Amino acid sequence: MQGERDGGRINVAIDGPAGAGKSTVARMVAGRLGYIYIDTGAMYRAVTLAANRSNIGPDEGDKLSKLVAGLEIRLKPGPEGQTVLLNGEDVTAEIRSREVTLRVSEVASHEPVRRRLVELQRHYAVEKGIVMDGRDIGTHVLPGAELKIFLTASARVRALRRFEELPDDQKIPIEQLEQEIADRDRSDEQREHSPLVRASDAILLDSSGLTIEQVVQRILDFSRTKLAEAK
Ligand code: C5P
Repeated sequence: MQGERDGGRINVAIDGPAGAGKSTVARMVAGRLGYIYIDTGAMYRAVTLAANRSNIGPDEGDKLSKLVAGLEIRLKPGPEGQTVLLNGEDVTAEIRSREVTLRVSEVASHEPVRRRLVELQRHYAVEKGIVMDGRDIGTHVLPGAELKIFLTASARVRALRRFEELPDDQKIPIEQLEQEIADRDRSDEQREHSPLVRASDAILLDSSGLTIEQVVQRILDFSRTKLAEAK
């Protein structure tokens, strides 16, 4: 019944560790289903960029709390992917910088930061037809999502993928990337508020030996089943 009221749409939550391919896969799944893609990691990155610009350290919880209350973060879905606006400024490229990547997990560990962003994320998903990726979507942001995927891959495979994405003049040794990814995983898994954990009803998908297209097809198959159930 719910599915009919929502025009036969469901919400899809994709969680998992850094570099598992969540954003690429989530964007493609959303495109094929005609859904809207929401990258929640981009929102934590935007807060981190704003903190870096204001010389606020990732451990300064009170200052981060005040900062996030005054920020306007908007995601604008488009054919080329999602544009991230921080107080109206396009920061889509800048939030991928190393300075942001190295600090984002600590910034994201503060409860007031999470509370504010989760509020925005839930707002996006009021109308069904959303594919949202992150760390706590299936467990906390959208516990009622009809389809939950926990997408993972070995740390080595994830480091290799990140290495290939880096421009030639910014290459970093794979061992260093692997270490940074492992550090970020640990921080995300061990934090007090909404840690990275697989929801009990999430489907575990290991993308290590799969192509992007194969992962996308599996998720589309799961969503067809869930859509049929929702009718
Ligand atoms: O997905 P991405 O790697 O861009 O996310 C950057 C960081 O933002 C993650 O390492 C994590 O610390 C944080 N994050 C989070 N909760 C989410 C999405 C991202 O804590 N839902």
